[in-house]
Amino acid sequence: MMATTNAEKYWNPILETLPQEKLRALQLKKFQRILRWSYENSPFYRRLYHDAGLEPGDIKTFDDIKKVPKTEKSMLRVVQGKTPYPYGDILCVPIEQVTEYHQTSGTTGQPVYQADTWQDWEWWSEAWAYILYAQGYRDSDRVFFPFGYNVFIAFWTAHYGAEKLGCEVIPGGVLNTEARILKMQEVRATAFMATPTYVLGMGDTARRKLDIDPAKDLQIRTITVAGEPGGSIPATKKRMEEIWGAKVYDHVGATEIGAWGYECVCQSGLHINEALFLVEIEDIQTGEFITEPGRPGKVVITALDRMAQPCIRFDSKDLVQLSEEECKCGRTFRLLQDGIISRTDNITKVKGVLLAPTSIEEVVRGILELGDEYEVIIAKQGDIDDITLNVELLPGQENNTGTIKNNLVDQLRVKTNLGYNIEFHEYGTLPRYDVKAKRFKDLRKGG
Ligand SMILES: [Zn+2]
Repeated sequence: MMATTNAEKYWNPILETLPQEKLRALQLKKFQRILRWSYENSPFYRRLYHDAGLEPGDIKTFDDIKKVPKTEKSMLRVVQGKTPYPYGDILCVPIEQVTEYHQTSGTTGQPVYQADTWQDWEWWSEAWAYILYAQGYRDSDRVFFPFGYNVFIAFWTAHYGAEKLGCEVIPGGVLNTEARILKMQEVRATAFMATPTYVLGMGDTARRKLDIDPAKDLQIRTITVAGEPGGSIPATKKRMEEIWGAKVYDHVGATEIGAWGYECVCQSGLHINEALFLVEIEDIQTGEFITEPGRPGKVVITALDRMAQPCIRFDSKDLVQLSEEECKCGRTFRLLQDGIISRTDNITKVKGVLLAPTSIEEVVRGILELGDEYEVIIAKQGDIDDITLNVELLPGQENNTGTIKNNLVDQLRVKTNLGYNIEFHEYGTLPRYDVKAKRFKDLRKGG
């Protein structure tokens, strides 16, 4: 169970241990409130519900929630760029009340603009306080933020959440990677947050360029990751924990939604924050709602308290499955096994087989003779799909390529049902990334 510290005065975990039926009752009440609020204040939502013949009063029971039309990113793009500029008529408050501008990265199309009021910003901090408290952050922690503070939400809200919890916060904004590592060493930071790619990249830079062993020479004990699936891929997590001599915890969130799920110190899966979010899991083929463990489906999510630009029954494209286990921490919030398994828009068909990039990552990162970086290239040879996997050999492994290759091919065959051309590269020669990596390249589309 959780230790008692001064952080208790900032945080009260009562909601996290509510029985499931009480959580459902709370969610229904909050859902009715946000639905009515959006209907009354946003022309976008009013049109959406009017066209579906729905009024807020129609939602009387938890099951009625299914009648409410879903939203998705493409719908937001249609209304944005118009008055009130740039958010469009999804906005539920006068533009003067907006205090925070952020936008999505636009990797999957035109960016989505996101407005928050100060109240929403406090709500974000609260959502992060749940995460950090569950991951063992306390007011004695000195938390370093090695990320570029810019228009992307990234760890902005984690910064405020850490302050809310009483941690000491160090913004490592414009520094380069070396300077960030040296600063963490100088101030004796105890925790930091980054994408899995950057956690591994910083470890590599510390060891190769600064002759610093992060596990021995720094005092980091906790790392919170986000933005990529690596935090819930066992082999990647193990690599990060070994390099840093620290516990690594995953969390999940998105600009349009909020920070909605987190791993606790038990590391047994991702808890859904059911006090602030309603997560429905939908079968991608049948559209049926899934309540049983072990069956994958996509997340349809509502941010129950976000007011300026509400997120109601949003199709997140994240694939998840509920865990069979109950978490030992005592939280009643439902638990997702293996975090975000994949994104529905990341799964590709190769040679007629569905391939999720995360399964390749799990195999590569589990082979200790290989470096952290890899690259997957899918191309067409005539009519046939062809997958090339580029990997880096760690120094000293040059004579073992035969064994490593057989091991890789066998494990990939078991994990993904597909064959691969393996190409070995010298350590340090594949592309490096500072934020989100682009390791998966499908050359079949558009030549
Ligand atoms: Zn737990």
